[in-house]
Amino acid sequence: PLTWRNQTATPTLKPPPKRQSLSFMKRRMRRLAAQWASAARRLDDKLRNHWREQKRILVHVGFLTEESGDVFSPKVLKGGPLGEMVQWADILTALHVLGHDLKISVSLKELFLGVPPGRGSCPLTGPLPFDLIYTDYHGLQQMKHHMGLSLRKHKCHIRVIDTFGTEPAYNHEEYATLHGYRTNWGYWNLHGQQYMTMFPHTPDNSFMGFVAEELNETERLNIQRNKVNNMAVVYGKEANMWKGKENFLSILHRYMDVHGTVYYETQRPPEVPAFVKNHGLLPQQELQQLLRKAKLFIGFGFPYEGPAPLEAIANGCIFLQPRFSPPHSSLNHEFFRGKPTSRKVSSQHPYAEQYIGRPHVITIDFNNSEEFDATVEPFLPYEYTCEGMLERVHAYIQNQVSVQTTAGGSCVDACQSAGLICEPALYRFINIKECEGVESEINHLFPAFSAKHAECGLQQDPLLFSCAGSSVKYRRLCPCRDYRVGQVALCRDCL
Ligand code: UDP
Repeated sequence: PLTWRNQTATPTLKPPPKRQSLSFMKRRMRRLAAQWASAARRLDDKLRNHWREQKRILVHVGFLTEESGDVFSPKVLKGGPLGEMVQWADILTALHVLGHDLKISVSLKELFLGVPPGRGSCPLTGPLPFDLIYTDYHGLQQMKHHMGLSLRKHKCHIRVIDTFGTEPAYNHEEYATLHGYRTNWGYWNLHGQQYMTMFPHTPDNSFMGFVAEELNETERLNIQRNKVNNMAVVYGKEANMWKGKENFLSILHRYMDVHGTVYYETQRPPEVPAFVKNHGLLPQQELQQLLRKAKLFIGFGFPYEGPAPLEAIANGCIFLQPRFSPPHSSLNHEFFRGKPTSRKVSSQHPYAEQYIGRPHVITIDFNNSEEFDATVEPFLPYEYTCEGMLERVHAYIQNQVSVQTTAGGSCVDACQSAGLICEPALYRFINIKECEGVESEINHLFPAFSAKHAECGLQQDPLLFSCAGSSVKYRRLCPCRDYRVGQVALCRDCL
């Protein structure tokens, strides 16, 4: 059974003070509910014949806990970062819509000490009552602190929501230590795909993403009819994102009406010129309305890789953004310094630059002027629609997780009873991923858990990976895949 330190305090049952971060997420979930529901119906049609398993999932959002300071809440209405909350709101919605059994925690007290209504015991006591745990780096740290070494055993169930990603060299403790890749974010020895990013950075990590609003045909037509050709919105909720852009703005103002959504208390911030129509920070819905009218959405270089450019493009704006030359990275830019990635960021929004591009996105050196006079249709990549996100999260949950046999069962049987087939070529993935190795052995039944002690053993010799074989001493770990009826050698989407 799981044990952890400091398990003495009694839980306080006072209602927590209003948390703006949670209110923001709630508003977003309500606003997008209909869109998620219709995406769910479409996916349901597609998956009609697929076997799906309901997972017990814990979502522990570390950065929102009071214990980590909940530094975001006080800034939600003041121009602080919202991208993380956008993503977590969408992850929670996707998991819920996919029908999984969710337990949500934004408080350490509740997670480790409190007794949630309707439950007789702490959610993390005893054998792990979850198949998957979605958390972030804060949450990971908190769990380690409270659970000590026993976290190791449960590592394979963890998924870390990690905006910018963690590359293998930084994640591998020994390698990071030997080669100078240790960072404050830690070297958790997870499998690279357990880190889930905001944009598809590298296939070493999984791409989680979020969604943007989708338009129906009528909305599309209305938007195109109502576009104001000379209206530009500047990307940047905080005044300091506008610093040093006076010249650029005054040239732009010769051709266009410039709008902004910069947070202010009583007076216009000095960084925002008087000719700018500043709306103050807008609720998400009102920002969408503004973007529906505007022709141009302009980035000044910060924030990096936020959701707003996708929303602008989805509402028919052209996104104009600066190219970074040389690219920004952990080597030359304060923001990325110490982050566990060596990625070279070539513009404010590399995804928009590389995956969307013209005519929707124009990435230029702001010191050179360039002409553009295009009319663009609203555009949203499928992977950022609700259906795209549901399909992806569904595939991760159903396919990234391997199957365990009962004691005495073989992998051939275990996969079969899940409507799948055992695929030995995939063993090399689960031999690291699903099993935090306590020992490794040359044994054709490995990787496997010992039935008695629930300890995990890895296979030492890849030549012995085998779907066949069983022993009452072991619960084997099996890689399964789908197959075509009448041609089981092939998976459904192969060829
Ligand atoms: N946003 C908003 N009101 C505004 C400006 C932005 O609600 O006036 C929302 C926007 O819809 C987007 C979110 O803030 O989904 C995150 O925006 P951004 O791209 O600036 O990323 P961040 O730096 O906040 O993570």
